[in-house]
Amino acid sequence: MSVYEYIGNLHVHTVYSDGKALHADVARAAGKAGLHFVVCTDHNVWVDGVEGYYENTLLLVGEEIHDVRLQPQSNHLLVYNTQTELSPKASAPQALIDEVNRRGGVAYIAHPFEYSSPVQPGLDAIPWTDWDVTGYAGLEIWNTMSEFKALMRNKLAALIYTTFPAWGITGPFQATLRLWDDLLAQGKRVAAIGNADAHGNEYSVGKSKRTLLPYDYLFRCVNTHILTERPFNGILEHDRALVYSALRAGRTFVGYDLPAPTAGFRFTARSGSNVALMGDEIVRTGATIFEIQAPDTAHIRLVCNGKTVVTEHGTALKHTTAEPGVYRVEVYRTYQLSRRGWIFSSPIAVV
Ligand SMILES: [Zn+2]
Ligand SMILES: [Zn+2]
Repeated sequence: MSVYEYIGNLHVHTVYSDGKALHADVARAAGKAGLHFVVCTDHNVWVDGVEGYYENTLLLVGEEIHDVRLQPQSNHLLVYNTQTELSPKASAPQALIDEVNRRGGVAYIAHPFEYSSPVQPGLDAIPWTDWDVTGYAGLEIWNTMSEFKALMRNKLAALIYTTFPAWGITGPFQATLRLWDDLLAQGKRVAAIGNADAHGNEYSVGKSKRTLLPYDYLFRCVNTHILTERPFNGILEHDRALVYSALRAGRTFVGYDLPAPTAGFRFTARSGSNVALMGDEIVRTGATIFEIQAPDTAHIRLVCNGKTVVTEHGTALKHTTAEPGVYRVEVYRTYQLSRRGWIFSSPIAVV
């Protein structure tokens, strides 16, 4: 089976909510960073009439929906492909997810776990709390702005990490990975996305104001890579359908593209004549053979039901097992003198 890979960012704010850029500027920044597509997800507003190609970058519109009356804030849901405003349903997450699915859309839970920052008002933790919901496609396991909020424990830390942002980007929160593994252990099919949550916001640091992580910088960091069975053809409707069907199927991996490009990573499973990609379920006929390819030498870890099954330092890992379970891959590498999360795959379920 031939597959095509596209790199995008699925969580971005514009001037229609609390971001600083217009859609055209977001598309330009995404193009500059080498992304194939970008999805603007403003808070509680679905913006019509801006989707399309901006030069070579596909810009789509989703929405980040939450109940504005909830204090403290929780339960931010990323909603894709509904082509209509759904924020009036924000107060009931399950009804909202059901409505998204009824309309052929796809829902992902945004920043499921967060730490607050005391450095300025408005940097409270906004976790997901309603874990009984079903019908969402996955979790945003890595959100760069969430990671930054956690790093800004005091003014000095804020100054350091706004000046040297790459020092602070290390990987998804362990608590998020544990949450994810718990959901997988419950038999839920939960894929992974990773995004910028870019706003282009300015922060006061001492007497100066600086932009914390501009859009184009963030688009070079944590992105979602999708696998499709057909290539993009430059037509909005065709390519939009490919993006959202990959998101629905969980044919995704999260790549931190700043240390080195993560494009080309692959995780497949074979059992007899059955073949599975990330996001798939595979029915065992005897043993299952996993093959993992990393685009560069790195520390590869195959994880099943929250436990490391096997590790390898190199560009490939092959593992044969008779055991059922939900398998996913983590890849780490050293960058700027410390270990960084580099690639996190969506799981393959072996049944
Ligand atoms: Zn949010
Ligand atoms: Zn957001």
